[in-house]
Amino acid sequence: MKTLSIIIPCYNEEFVINSCYTRLASILDNLKKIKSQIIFINDGSTDNTCMILASIALSDSRVTLINFSRNFGHQAAVTAGIHHCQSDLAIIMDADLQDPPELIPDILKCQEQESANVVYCVRKSRLGESKFKRWSSKKFYRILNKFSDTKFPLDAGDFRLIDSRIIQEFNRFKERGKYVRGLISWVGFKQVPFYYERGVRWGGESNYPLKKMFSFASTALVYFSKKPLQIAMGLGFFTVFIGIGMALWYIFGKIFGYTEAETGWTSIMIGIIFFGGVQLLTIGVLGQYIGILFEEVKERPEYIIEDIINKK
Ligand code: UDP
Ligand code: MG
Repeated sequence: MKTLSIIIPCYNEEFVINSCYTRLASILDNLKKIKSQIIFINDGSTDNTCMILASIALSDSRVTLINFSRNFGHQAAVTAGIHHCQSDLAIIMDADLQDPPELIPDILKCQEQESANVVYCVRKSRLGESKFKRWSSKKFYRILNKFSDTKFPLDAGDFRLIDSRIIQEFNRFKERGKYVRGLISWVGFKQVPFYYERGVRWGGESNYPLKKMFSFASTALVYFSKKPLQIAMGLGFFTVFIGIGMALWYIFGKIFGYTEAETGWTSIMIGIIFFGGVQLLTIGVLGQYIGILFEEVKERPEYIIEDIINKK
């Protein structure tokens, strides 16, 4: 008999967690030839999520609850779920029911038919998400794909099935800033898409404000690409050439008398501001990478667990 774990990160989900559990449990009960388990990761919720999850875990031995000591973020929570998963298969999904649990049987079927190591779920539509979020996410994945050697599927989130082979490889990753979906794509093996309609949030509100979205995007970019550094260097070369060109033009101009260098205020100001901007920008790019190095060399744990209920 195969074993399956459902990994669900939760942060302040008191309004949805009960329906999430009941809908999921009824699907899992009907799965044939599969023994399932649910791993909830309470990512330092400040509402009643922890209490609700604890009472679910106490009444259902299939449910494991990992409580973090504080909020460590979505990716750390998913990582902890994968670290604690000993099943043949795992499905990562959100607590807010935007990824419908009713799809699980079809995803499993897809995995079996294709004998895939990863089934990543691709959103055909994204209901209830703002135009800006859809537009920015589309642009972001295009840029990421251009910038990185790894190819990332468009319109796929963390909602995916992975098998024990992938879990085993994932557990070898030592980097702390984990961009989970990127790392799973990076691992390789057989990865197949599964198309679905992404619903609206069941209740509560999104925990991904613009600020978190930006930091998520910059982690992905900096961890998966050195292109920003190369662009910065390219910009440097470009401006140096312009500088040399201008210097030669005016020096020879003076000697041969075809130009008279004006002591113009405007051109000097433009030059200073433009090249000052280029310098600050490149220093900023460098800073991003140094910041990441700083985080990584400290070797702090990615998350701290307060306690685990129903540890398997
Ligand atoms: N989440 C988390 N920690 C956080 C933020 C979010 O564990 O700091 C969980 C959240 O409970 C949900 C999932 O990550 O299960 C996706 O979050 P959300 O629905 O807010 O993101 P969106 O769907 O709006 O991108
Ligand atoms: Mg959501």
